[in-house]
Amino acid sequence: MPTFTVGMYREQFSDRFGYKYLSNRTIDYIKDLIFKKKKVEKKFNEKRRSALKKIGASMGMLAMSPIVLSQESSINKKRKKLLKVAHITDIHISTDNNAPERFKKCLEDIKKHQVDFFLNGGDTIMAADYGHITREQVIKQWDVWKELRKEFDTYHMYSCLGNHDMWWAAPDKSDAMYGKDYVVKNLEIPKRYYSFKKNDWHFIVLDSNNKNAGALDDEQRDWLEQELQALPHKAFVLVMTHYPILGVSTIPYGGSHTDSKYITKLFYKHRDKSIHCISGHMHLLDKAVYNDVSYYCNGSMSGFWWGVGDEESAGKCWYHETPPGYTIIELFDDGSLTNTYYPHAY
Ligand SMILES: [Zn+2]
Repeated sequence: MPTFTVGMYREQFSDRFGYKYLSNRTIDYIKDLIFKKKKVEKKFNEKRRSALKKIGASMGMLAMSPIVLSQESSINKKRKKLLKVAHITDIHISTDNNAPERFKKCLEDIKKHQVDFFLNGGDTIMAADYGHITREQVIKQWDVWKELRKEFDTYHMYSCLGNHDMWWAAPDKSDAMYGKDYVVKNLEIPKRYYSFKKNDWHFIVLDSNNKNAGALDDEQRDWLEQELQALPHKAFVLVMTHYPILGVSTIPYGGSHTDSKYITKLFYKHRDKSIHCISGHMHLLDKAVYNDVSYYCNGSMSGFWWGVGDEESAGKCWYHETPPGYTIIELFDDGSLTNTYYPHAY
């Protein structure tokens, strides 16, 4: 369940910063916290087990199976890994802050994980959506991206649209660079929303960029309903959106899907399936679990948009308490997955 561990912090930051950002005292403090947390969890689990026994006894034949809050708390040790993928999101590429070179270094690290393919969560370019952005600026940002894509073009990449990717300020709607179609073309994806299958896993990529964003439009709702309906009983599903469908960091900062109620109810109808969701947009790392569906908001590649940060950044280039990074997801043959965030220090 911990998205990154003390060991990983050491690995990531020891050589580059010499613990500049995490002193030994801080690391010892975090270790202490984790140790205490484990002790408390153990006690809680013991108590819960005996409470459930009592409940089970009193309910007799009506006994319900216990509700496990996180799929990861009941790991099946015999599960077999079917896929390993990289989830990168909010790359926000431009030529500023030496971002292309820094992104290349991240790619080298990701490649070491020997992933099967990439999932890109959107906001691939810095920003095309503001009113003052010119055609030349849009072209330039996508050119930088296309150049970088060559660095890992041996990998397939499935992308979704971010709110900053679209150029709405085009002179008119018939302009070839206006809106979503141009982004679909640049990202080389079949449509603004789509699905695909790899091994036993079904991947659904949604477009959150609609009225009351993040939200699905009616057309996409119909499609998603049919898509889930057509899946076999107990199917394994990974849903990728740009905005979080449900989140934790969205409570203090906003930015959630505004139609979470609709989507979570739809997922509940399909509770026979193993559904997991990943998102970006927040540049923050969090995890929410609701009705046994896990929702991971996986930070961002660009941290503080490749800048050094501000007075609220807990570290250099961090956005609030989240360092820039990428996620490695392992998908298993029992419908479970692990979602591990790797901070980068470039
Ligand atoms: Zn972003």
